[in-house]
Amino acid sequence: MQSRRFDKDRDLVIKRAKKEKVINIVNVGFDLDNCYKAIELAQTYKDLYATIGIHPHNATQLTTETLKIFRKLLKNPKVVAIGEIGLDYYRNLSPKETQKQAFKTQLSLAVDHDLPVIIHNRNADADIMQIISNFKKNIKGIMHCFSSDIKFAKRSIDLGFLISFAGNLTYPKARNLHDVAKLVDLQNMLIETDSPWLTPQNMRGKRNESSYLPYVAQKIGILKNETVDEVAQLTSTNAKKIFNIP
Ligand SMILES: [Zn+2]
Repeated sequence: MQSRRFDKDRDLVIKRAKKEKVINIVNVGFDLDNCYKAIELAQTYKDLYATIGIHPHNATQLTTETLKIFRKLLKNPKVVAIGEIGLDYYRNLSPKETQKQAFKTQLSLAVDHDLPVIIHNRNADADIMQIISNFKKNIKGIMHCFSSDIKFAKRSIDLGFLISFAGNLTYPKARNLHDVAKLVDLQNMLIETDSPWLTPQNMRGKRNESSYLPYVAQKIGILKNETVDEVAQLTSTNAKKIFNIP
């Protein structure tokens, strides 16, 4: 929601989301500038929350200075998680070793503050699993925009992670993801927009926004033979629990 693409109609977007019963919105940071913006929005709107983190694309930004700033920002009660953090070996916009170091440092930060993490993972299953396993279940969080296989999903759940599906689950060609969604219990599942990206099939081509989230719930309902309400209720409960939102 902190994207410039919402500057002209942010109030309306939030209203439209409410109309679709998408009430609490967690805006996820990916670089320092973006984290500030997410927090600013969370201060402005009662139902909005923020996370702070340096995305693997921007891993070189995670300096001692940035960490100092993060520690200060974490005093704000509306900051509910560390993320997006992780590894992206698909686009490799930062060197692998830098990505790994930034990931580990931010996982430790989350442990220190007893906060969940939001993990971004592209083509990096093995390294992600190895690194989070080293934290011996002291870390909890979310596998965001899940795109791995069922084996990875199960291992993540064993370590205390939730599996989060975004708009790409609604794409007809995403059969592998459909299979994973069928096998993951709703108790271990979240839904998200990844807005402004990954617009659900029905709205494809447009900017993605929070009011389109029910399309993801609908798809999961179809795949798992559950009602949309059941999917919506359970995934909201899971989200509130992991982010500690009242
Ligand atoms: Zn991501």
